[in-house]
Amino acid sequence: MNRLWLVVCFASLISASSDVKYDLKNLTGQRNVVSMVIIGSGPAGCAAATYGARAGMDVLVYEGPLPGGALTETGFVENWPGIKRAKGADIMESQRCQAADAGARIVAETVSEVNFSSWPFKLKTYEGSEINALSVVIAAGSSPRKLNVPGEKEFWGMGVSVCAVCDAPFYEDREVIVIGGGDSAVEQVIQLSPYAKKVTQFVRRDAMRASVAMQNKLRNIKNVSVEYLKDIARIHGDDTGVTAVDAYDKKTKKIERRNVEGVFLAIGHSARTQIFADEIQLEKDGSVKVLGRSQCTSMPGVFAAGDVADNVYRQAGVAAGDGSKAERDVEHFLGDLGLTPTVIRSLRDGTRKVSGLKFYLN
Ligand code: NDP
Repeated sequence: MNRLWLVVCFASLISASSDVKYDLKNLTGQRNVVSMVIIGSGPAGCAAATYGARAGMDVLVYEGPLPGGALTETGFVENWPGIKRAKGADIMESQRCQAADAGARIVAETVSEVNFSSWPFKLKTYEGSEINALSVVIAAGSSPRKLNVPGEKEFWGMGVSVCAVCDAPFYEDREVIVIGGGDSAVEQVIQLSPYAKKVTQFVRRDAMRASVAMQNKLRNIKNVSVEYLKDIARIHGDDTGVTAVDAYDKKTKKIERRNVEGVFLAIGHSARTQIFADEIQLEKDGSVKVLGRSQCTSMPGVFAAGDVADNVYRQAGVAAGDGSKAERDVEHFLGDLGLTPTVIRSLRDGTRKVSGLKFYLN
């Protein structure tokens, strides 16, 4: 089984990885060696960490710029398996605790640079850490897309926001617009409605992409109105922040000025893959390419899970499942190199050398 897995993964090697030698001799004398490094601490990263730590591996999670990931910026979640309704931030807190309790080390650092051209893989963080990773799970998530209209950059953080759950209280009794027709847009509308005087949702098509369950929630909210076939062409403001937008009606082809003090963007996400672009294969949309039903990337030993490698489902529950799968793939990869969890455990205890070699598990 392991051998078959290895054949599948190695068969997919692209030129970028063909020179990499997975030789335990490379580890001789190395310091700061970690068996499983996870980049990102959302549902995918935490699930991978829990599985890896429970298997007895030394697991290091770099939390990244948004500890807990995008779910922490969501309001209530009603489709996390097994939990009827809970705050996204609470779900992530319990997932983080589960990983930490299992023995994963979770550090508040962000990976700035990776080098997968030799093994062990090299990773650096903005905070100055340098690590040799025997395997890497990329679970860096995605970042919110921007509209790229005039005024957006100028008033970013001064009325233009992507996080209603963070900013809603600032819009008490004010008028705001939410752009987008997906589940996130509906969520932002719901989060803003108890505070704002009026929330208008602009949907660029004649229908929303959001689930029916989410759309139904809007029905009984009095201060919400949904406008279809609407875009915004420009955001206006002054020293105090956003004051208005130019709304473009796709049906009448007319532009109309709307006085609003907040513009909330919920127009989808792009995978956070900038630092990996030269190291592994990406899909056309920038997400990490994974092989078949595995979480293997084009580089053996590097795996990806969650939104960073998902341009279809993008659900927290799916991300957690991907994370669990990624850890299984890591175990197979390391096991085929002779580094089974048992061997790793004994290396950590300092009781055993592998193939007569000595290296230092961090
Ligand atoms: P989606 O990709 O689902 O939706 C993006 C929305 O933004 C679409 O309506 C899209 O329009 C619109 N859009 C894209 N670009 C523009 C633009 N330039 N101008 C105006 N509108 C634009 O992203 P979400 O972030 O909403 O959701 C991501 C994933 O997370 C989904 O799978 C979703 O189901 C999930 N999610 C689930 C939640 C829940 O279940 N509670 C909560 C939040 C997210 P168009 O439809 O025309 O492409």
